[in-house]
Amino acid sequence: MGEGHEFSPEGLEANFPVGLDLDSDGGQTATTIGEKEYVIGGSDDGAVSIGVRILDKSTGKWEIPMVLGMEPAPCRGHSAVLLNNDKILVLKSDSAPDDCIWFLEVDTPFVKTKKKILESEVVAWSKGVKGDGSKPVVISGPSGVGKGTLINRLMDEYPSSFGFSVSHTTRAPRQKEKDGVHYHFTERSIMEKDIKDGKFLEFANVHGNLYGTSIEAVEVVTDSGKRCILDIDVQGARSVKASSLEVISIFICPPSFEELEKRLRGRGTETEEQIQKRLRNALAELEQGKSSGLFDHILVNDNFETCYANLKKILDRDGSINAVCPPSESIKLPVGHSVSVMDQKVLIRCGKDEHGKASNSLFVLDTSSLKGGAPWRTRGLKCVRH
Ligand code: ADP
Ligand code: 5GP
Repeated sequence: MGEGHEFSPEGLEANFPVGLDLDSDGGQTATTIGEKEYVIGGSDDGAVSIGVRILDKSTGKWEIPMVLGMEPAPCRGHSAVLLNNDKILVLKSDSAPDDCIWFLEVDTPFVKTKKKILESEVVAWSKGVKGDGSKPVVISGPSGVGKGTLINRLMDEYPSSFGFSVSHTTRAPRQKEKDGVHYHFTERSIMEKDIKDGKFLEFANVHGNLYGTSIEAVEVVTDSGKRCILDIDVQGARSVKASSLEVISIFICPPSFEELEKRLRGRGTETEEQIQKRLRNALAELEQGKSSGLFDHILVNDNFETCYANLKKILDRDGSINAVCPPSESIKLPVGHSVSVMDQKVLIRCGKDEHGKASNSLFVLDTSSLKGGAPWRTRGLKCVRH
């Protein structure tokens, strides 16, 4: 188990009086909240894991919680420090700069909700990312309204600004659709298991098939510095809105139901039975999309060029359409670093540089403006090197 380290970074130490955990014996840390001790890591069979066990100190019993969200890959060690009494900041040693900061949520609103639903002990991982990233854009609307055409045009015109969230679906691929590009075409049983394992941000039964957005699909785009575009149905948009992810949501309407039917038939990708089903569902989607206040913007796709220009105006208003965020970067920490926390600032003292030489490297991680969280990334971290 890790032990406390004394350190005195000139001018800063007085501000950081709180103790710490750090990686050492067996790469294990223990963080106590009330009667519970959260033990992270440990080396079974030689490899250092990042598994989680909970000791109930009142009964002396151990529990293995259900772990949601993306789990960090094993590492050579880590430090852990409690933030806000509901999450543990885990700093991985010797890991790639973009894989160094993680949060284990143990009592956040997200975890509390899951505990209630799953009626068991739950913890959830979320990767920490410096900076805010750009808000993903949710585009919804009935089948055949022109969502795909608008999105393709946007990505063709601004390939370095926008990236598409590739959904999973159980429906069969259309003739020109490629696996991994248009969708991840998946078997229902596999997708259902992944949903159960917490890998999906949202999912819905749409026109008789299962569709869903994986956490990875959104984060791969956002981590690359691009703005993520999600083409999802109204149910999916509602789930996203209820989550901790901040998005801009846009609903696309047809000029008339007759025109929608014409476009859907004109596309020639569905059987008559499927067209009928999609048109029936369109009525409900249009009603919900227009009336629920669910969407930030509603656009009518009558003349394509006008609709596309209006879409660009919305996106430009919310941050320049050409803006590319720098890919999220993070710090690289050696084995044996130490951490301390006060208020919402975390002081990290490296002790060594990445080549093992003694170093006074010191980082202050400001966690006062965290955004998002499990099962997404935790954004809004600010890091200053001293
Ligand atoms: P969705 O992705 O919403 O299901 P698509 O982008 O596949 O819809 O568009 C359905 C069909 O409608 C396509 O054949 C497309 O070329 C056509 N379309 C899209 N926008 C317009 C528009 N404004 N006017 C006429 N046809 C359109
Ligand atoms: P299609 O079969 O025409 O590609 O898509 C049918 C519907 O499924 C569209 O309304 C589309 O927005 C929606 N859809 C596509 N991917 C997802 C997803 O990941 N989640 C949800 N909820 N809906 C999706």
